[in-house]
Amino acid sequence: MKDIKDRNILPGLKKAAGLAEDLLFPPRCPICDEPVPLSGDRICAECAGRIRPIRGNVCRKCGRPVAAAGTLCRDCSERAHSYSAGCAAFLYRDISGSLYRMKFEGRAEYAKYYGYQIARRVRECFDQEEIDAIDALVPVPVSAQRLRQRGYNQAGLLAQAVSEVLKIPARSDVLVRSRKTPGMRALSASERYKNLKNAFIVHGNDVEFMRIMLIDDIYTTGATIDACAEALAGAGAAGIYYAAAAIGEIHDQPEQSHFDDQNVYI
Ligand SMILES: [Zn+2]
Ligand SMILES: [Zn+2]
Repeated sequence: MKDIKDRNILPGLKKAAGLAEDLLFPPRCPICDEPVPLSGDRICAECAGRIRPIRGNVCRKCGRPVAAAGTLCRDCSERAHSYSAGCAAFLYRDISGSLYRMKFEGRAEYAKYYGYQIARRVRECFDQEEIDAIDALVPVPVSAQRLRQRGYNQAGLLAQAVSEVLKIPARSDVLVRSRKTPGMRALSASERYKNLKNAFIVHGNDVEFMRIMLIDDIYTTGATIDACAEALAGAGAAGIYYAAAAIGEIHDQPEQSHFDDQNVYI
């Protein structure tokens, strides 16, 4: 009997399973959470016309919108970050409710849309040569306890989705969160940095000389990305970048809203 793969049944089965899942759990627009047509885009037409990705002048370090091209934002001019450069697809305030649902209300499927948007933004912000030189996409990890509670790491799902577009391997096994960090809601940027000191460890030793792009849902002060970058640099990574679904504006920090910094619940 021929192998099941030879008969090309496996992709068909996978597709059928995906369709059954879509029928049972119709895909929802990540922005407004209304069901969207099975055959259409992942976002509804109304939200597609309304949602505005980040465009124009951005900080040359963190990718936050700034007034003048080639400048640094206030945050990056005051603090030297541990990564080389990064970008985000949206302003946090535009998708805060959506990211909340993805993280805390089980809307893991949104990660497909945001992964695609992150990949699109990476292509806008980095030269193809730079993208080709990246060896791995590494999601910001959650603690083992949080992973058990939630069932998934939203950054891991995003990295997987970005990987499918950019064809760079996603590696969830590289970075480990060594402990559950306490809530950071009321903490200043420097307190956040202190809170995250040594929170991440590199698992194994194969990151030496690798160029890595960290993937997360939200970039706020950069404390989390910096803590991950320091761990990776300590293990010999040759270059560290980041890409996120959203970035907070400096005068519009996420901790002011109903949704906390990425680290609070992780
Ligand atoms: Zn919508
Ligand atoms: Zn900046």
